[in-house]
Amino acid sequence: AKTAGRNSYQFYESQMQEMAGLRLAQSNALKTAIEHNELHLVYQPQVCLEQQRVIGVEALLRWDSQSWGSVPPCDFIPLAEASGMILSIGEWVLDSALARLRSWLDQGLPPVAMAVNISAIQFEHPGFTEQISQLLQRHQVPPHLLELELTEAMAMKKPDFSEQRIRHLHAMGVKLSIDDFGTGYSSLSYLKRFKIDKLKIDREFIADMDNDAGDQAIVTAIIQMARRLSITVLAEGVESARQAELLKRFGCSQIQGYYYSKPLPPEEAARYIVGYNPQ
Ligand code: C2E
Ligand code: CA
Ligand code: CA
Ligand code: CA
Repeated sequence: AKTAGRNSYQFYESQMQEMAGLRLAQSNALKTAIEHNELHLVYQPQVCLEQQRVIGVEALLRWDSQSWGSVPPCDFIPLAEASGMILSIGEWVLDSALARLRSWLDQGLPPVAMAVNISAIQFEHPGFTEQISQLLQRHQVPPHLLELELTEAMAMKKPDFSEQRIRHLHAMGVKLSIDDFGTGYSSLSYLKRFKIDKLKIDREFIADMDNDAGDQAIVTAIIQMARRLSITVLAEGVESARQAELLKRFGCSQIQGYYYSKPLPPEEAARYIVGYNPQ
């Protein structure tokens, strides 16, 4: 038993080394991903339940690596954060998403909000608000069409700093939402303190909502609280008609998920927006 234990330990150790090696190699490859045109964005529609219209899209980053094919964001975003590369990658994301929105507006598409995921390192960077303001200028995008997705943990790390920064972004007209709501340390007082426009209820609570009374209780409580605070609620990861129906009944205003659409390449996203928003 002892030898078996040692062998499995050695096996485990060599696996760990292999993974560390892969992470290092991927981290290095990520440095040239922008120059090599390996990054692109896909856009997932966000639908207003009341009006049955697409009111926004979330930009989601994809990495098609020459060496590993498509690497999921849950693998490469942490690498980009650990190495600081998230600053240049994050700027590339904002720049590309706003350029896309500009071109959609120029094509005469109905205006939709562009939601962009922001890492803590970006949000905390001294030049962040200035960068946002310059990018909005460069692409001539109305600030209220840009929605920055932050997480609770990120906003709560330095509450005073976050409050100031959110205030500043608000003064510029940019919208702020809290991503993955319910999964962090929900110190709810910050919802009142920070001027948050939208809560995105995490998929975790939506997935078994149909069968799990506990999840249903959490979802309805979040919706009611948000409504009383005049915060918009979006449910993430909605996959079935039943879930959409329940959410509508509970008073949720927006949903996003495979039930409506997977994240789409730009041309398909544009067609989706036009198809859903008759003029
Ligand atoms: P997230 O911000 O919570 O994004 C939602 C994730 O759920 C996306 O995964 C999306 O494809 C997936 N999803 C949407 N609807 C459904 C559904 O109905 N069912 C299921 N099972 N999944 C659904 P994705 O694209 O793999 O992104 C994963 C995470 O990577 C994101 O989670 C976000 O935290 C991060 N990420 C993606 N793009 C960026 C980016 O540009 N910058 C930063 N900092 N993070 C990003
Ligand atoms: Ca998000
Ligand atoms: Ca989310
Ligand atoms: Ca998530």
